[in-house]
Amino acid sequence: MPVKVAEEWLNICGGCEVTILDIGEPLLDLLPVLQFVHMPVLMDHKYFGQTGEGAKLEIPQADVGIITGGIRNEKEKHVAEAMRNSCKTLMALGSCACFGGIPAMANMFKLDELFEKVYRGSKTTDPAGTPSENLPPLLESLKAVDEVVKVDAYIPGCPTTPGLVAEALTGLLEGKPFQLPERSVCDECPVKREKKASGGTIERPLRGVEFKQDEPWENTRCFMEQGILCLGPVTRAGCATAGELPGEPKVPRCVKGYMPCRGCFGPIRKGANPLVDMMGALTSIGLDAKQVTDRRALLNRYIGAQNRLRPLPQPPTPRR
Ligand code: SF4
Ligand code: SF4
Ligand code: SF4
Repeated sequence: MPVKVAEEWLNICGGCEVTILDIGEPLLDLLPVLQFVHMPVLMDHKYFGQTGEGAKLEIPQADVGIITGGIRNEKEKHVAEAMRNSCKTLMALGSCACFGGIPAMANMFKLDELFEKVYRGSKTTDPAGTPSENLPPLLESLKAVDEVVKVDAYIPGCPTTPGLVAEALTGLLEGKPFQLPERSVCDECPVKREKKASGGTIERPLRGVEFKQDEPWENTRCFMEQGILCLGPVTRAGCATAGELPGEPKVPRCVKGYMPCRGCFGPIRKGANPLVDMMGALTSIGLDAKQVTDRRALLNRYIGAQNRLRPLPQPPTPRR
């Protein structure tokens, strides 16, 4: 009997669905044992029956449910609840589903401020009133999936890697739960570390890192020690892959492209506070974290749901 899979996309960009297709050849081995019973990106399955005759939002029963994207409006909330009711095991795929992702940066603002910025006070289009007809109401903030329904497995990353999706699906077929180890990206990074920054300043990754082409990774200095903000110390490992030649070490995905880690795999463990931990990591190599002026947003870039990013209280109005 094939394993029935239902997949849903909520507040997304579509990149996580591309990752599923990017599994490539291993997907061909998986397809005979998987039966996709619901997947809006591939099939036109209607929530209320094919002719709209249903009275209740329904998703076919499935062994495994995969949700990408966070939850921003009432419709997405209902779909997440229907997925939970229909699926025995529910996976959150991608950083948006696991922690809110980039859209959760909007959680720094109140809903009314967002409407003001995007519609009423728009500077790039004709200002318009707040849309109210035939649209699902927005929630006050963007939620990660587990703030609305129980989640059984998390596959983070923006997008995640095809290898991890294949590993999670294969594990489920074999009855093995999927969980990433509680290690940091730095733990899987082969660059040279001297535990001291070479200068006193922290730069954005606009300046390229210094590296020696075709030399072993041990000859490239840690990006953060070069003064380039890299979130490897506070980000969960899982994106590293080995090189194509035999004996080449595993290297984190962005580091392999000579770019610093931006934190897309989220905190190393549940309950960790990357903002505080990153300030400690910078201080430990002699850098002053206060140089990163927008650190609240930057260090919570992919993880703003689950109450990490909220509107700041307004300062009291001065008395006359
Ligand atoms: S995690 Fe990244 S790739 Fe996936 S839906 Fe969100 S923004 Fe897109
Ligand atoms: S800070 Fe970045 S470059 Fe340095 S070891 Fe960690 S992941 Fe690698
Ligand atoms: S290096 Fe960091 S930002 Fe890049 S894929 Fe890995 S976890 Fe994500």
